[in-house]
Amino acid sequence: LYNTLQELRGNIQVFCRIRPMFNEEAKCTIDYIGNDGSLMVIDPLKPQNTRKIFQFNRVFGPTATQDEVYKDTQALIRSVMDGYNVCIFAYGQTGSGKTHTMCGPSNGSSKDMGINYMALNDLFQISSIREDVKYEIRVQMVEIYNEQVRDLLAEDASNTKLEIRNCSSNVWLSLPDANVHLAQSTADVLNLMKLGEKNRAFSSTAMNHRSSRSHSVLTVHVHGKDISGSAIHSCLHLVDLAGSERVDKSEATGDRLKEAQHINKSLSCLGDVITALSQKNSHIPYRNSKLTQLLQNSLGGNAKMLMFAHVSPEADSYGETISTLKFAQRASTV
Ligand code: ADP
Ligand code: MG
Repeated sequence: LYNTLQELRGNIQVFCRIRPMFNEEAKCTIDYIGNDGSLMVIDPLKPQNTRKIFQFNRVFGPTATQDEVYKDTQALIRSVMDGYNVCIFAYGQTGSGKTHTMCGPSNGSSKDMGINYMALNDLFQISSIREDVKYEIRVQMVEIYNEQVRDLLAEDASNTKLEIRNCSSNVWLSLPDANVHLAQSTADVLNLMKLGEKNRAFSSTAMNHRSSRSHSVLTVHVHGKDISGSAIHSCLHLVDLAGSERVDKSEATGDRLKEAQHINKSLSCLGDVITALSQKNSHIPYRNSKLTQLLQNSLGGNAKMLMFAHVSPEADSYGETISTLKFAQRASTV
């Protein structure tokens, strides 16, 4: 029944999440959150401006818990065990809560774990319950920085440069040289994620800067075999995108300018691919960026996609908020 419902709703869903205000005294751009996925924003510094209305599949306000967010994501994640490829993206400006949604709080507390952890936990649970299917779960973790794919689970992560291969018969093998770890439990995955995070930080002196300037992709490969011998291969991609904020071209120079150009290009390519998919175009421009090339086999076709558009509610983020919501609206088929 779940899959039928998904089919009816289409394969692209967009959720919006608004993080709490850091400063209680700041003015807030969120005017109204409907329980039907609608959202009204206003620039509080220019109150004469009209309110703008956006419509998504779901909007999570500042008080939404990690559990509530996961509850609405769970069915999609579970469909991976039935052979569907699934991509979940966290989009938004730096500081809007992308990593909070995907991984959990920045203080590393084991409370309030993010989607990555909850998803793996769920998949292992299903795998232990289903007696008719034998599952194997493997994990891969890469980052894309300046259009270069790095293996975060490699010994010498910062020096890796992975080639992407799009081979239709081996759709789960788009990074043939990347390390793939067989995981037996959520604890195994947590250790791998820690290693990946360490490698990501290790290759940079300014960890925060780096993590907001690169896309990180945690891929879970699921292989299942039932008693009749028929097999499924599917992937769950959990993507924490680089910050979507526009960098002031007059100020950015050198490395910063190069990073900004790569990010702009890959995020706009992602937007183009999603738009082409939602309009059911015959040509989908996957080849224009490493990110869309890497995810090619998991975007479109029977694959399912969920975009989380993250918003910082403070008035000084109004411009970025509108551009995030417009990007997400473009992806949305509601
Ligand atoms: P991003 O990854 O988009 O740059 P983060 O996830 O690092 O943003 O969030 C920025 C800060 O806000 C972090 O300290 C994070 O823990 C906090 N934060 C983000 N979203 C929430 C939320 N929904 N509830 C509580 N704290 C949050
Ligand atoms: Mg982050």
